[in-house]
Amino acid sequence: MIINNFLIILLISIISIYTIIYLNNLNGLIESVIKRDSRIIKIIETALDDLYSMNAADDKYIISGDPDYFLQFGQIRNEFHQKIKKLSSLTDTGAQSNLLTDVEKNYDQYSTLLKERMLNRGSLKLPEKIRRTYINKREEITGNIDRRMRNLLIISTEERDRKLQLSRDMVARIFNVSVISGIIVVFLVFFITYINARKINFPIKLLREKTKEVASGKFGDVLKIPAPPEIRELANAFNVMCDRLKELDQMKIDYINHLSHELRTPLTVIKEASLMLEQGVFSRLPEKQEELFKVINEECERLISSVNRILDFSRMEAGDMYFSFQHADIGAVIEKSIVKLFPLIRNKKMNIIKEISPNIPAVRMDIERIAEVLENLLSNAWKYTQERGTITVSAVHNSAKDAVEISIKDNGMGIPEDGLQQVFDKFKRVDDRRGAIRGTGLGLAIVRHIVNAHGGEIWVKSKIGEGSTFTFSLPVS
Ligand code: ADP
Repeated sequence: MIINNFLIILLISIISIYTIIYLNNLNGLIESVIKRDSRIIKIIETALDDLYSMNAADDKYIISGDPDYFLQFGQIRNEFHQKIKKLSSLTDTGAQSNLLTDVEKNYDQYSTLLKERMLNRGSLKLPEKIRRTYINKREEITGNIDRRMRNLLIISTEERDRKLQLSRDMVARIFNVSVISGIIVVFLVFFITYINARKINFPIKLLREKTKEVASGKFGDVLKIPAPPEIRELANAFNVMCDRLKELDQMKIDYINHLSHELRTPLTVIKEASLMLEQGVFSRLPEKQEELFKVINEECERLISSVNRILDFSRMEAGDMYFSFQHADIGAVIEKSIVKLFPLIRNKKMNIIKEISPNIPAVRMDIERIAEVLENLLSNAWKYTQERGTITVSAVHNSAKDAVEISIKDNGMGIPEDGLQQVFDKFKRVDDRRGAIRGTGLGLAIVRHIVNAHGGEIWVKSKIGEGSTFTFSLPVS
């Protein structure tokens, strides 16, 4: 688009420069006609008049001997001489200069003739014979001057007409160039605007159709459109958005499937166990009945925990998770969370070790939320560690960072390296070898959110088959 506009501007500039040059030349020509040629013509015409008047005054003087006529003659001669001088300063062509030189020569002859006559007779009347000879000679010279002046007049008029014709041609050319180039520019502007509009409209139409498809839930194939770079960038961004939406859509479907399974399993177990109790299957075996009640209770707990996580997660997503901060001792919170987990630990005959450094400063925290973090990490350690495994909970004060760091280490199945980055993402479960282990895939996403809201960080180190260590920090000040 920029190139197209530049082309139009370049074309207009060239035409403008061309027109300015021609107008300048035209101006020069017109000035030359007005200031030189017209003046030359005017001077020649009056000089010719002077020549006739000069002869007439001379004749009158010769005949009458009246000195007034001689004075008049002298005046006209002077004016004639001035005009010839003026002409030689104005003429510029070779032919004009040659003619003027001839005129000047003849005028010199005329002056010499006059001088001779004055020397001979002064102001006295001339005898008839001398007068005849003098007049014949004078007529011959003034006749020469007259002819040359007339030629000069013809040449000067032709020169003026030639220049006027040239000016007319130039005006016509400027007019033609302006009109033709104006038409070309208008056509080009229309053409380029049409091409640009097409280039923009076509991809925008495609984008509009694609947007409608996306709005109706069809994410389809990526959009590939030939378009100017600006629109192409928009299309690329649109494609990225579609890919992301497709991914999220798939994630949503997977998650709903997974969640339904997560909720249906405990409900089915509860239903089956309560049906067995209702039908009195173990009516004579009270210890079996007790086992069924225990199963129902455990599944209810699991159900409550899953629903709580979902609720927490939706609060977190909506930005509605509120915190009530206070300074508290992290050791006490850890202790309480371990106690809650104790029955599960005992069931799997696991070992739990506490390594809490003395003199850990109090940290600013929401006790309930930090307890939730610890319970999540502890229950994961319990969930993903085999029977008789070991869980180590430690807390130290990292003075360099001025933060308390709490680690939950297990010697369970570990996390594959390519899953380490994703475990904190919502809905992400590293499911390869642990299909049987149930979970919402939300626990660690909630944990990270809570830790970050405290100004802390969380990270994990893990080796497959050797175990995992989740560590989170809480700033002291
Ligand atoms: P879930 O409800 O599935 O446990 P989490 O967000 O708590 O969801 O954990 C995400 C995934 O991280 C889990 O599915 C599991 O694959 C992996 N994970 C979390 N903690 C551990 C651990 N201690 N040992 C091995 N894998 C773990």
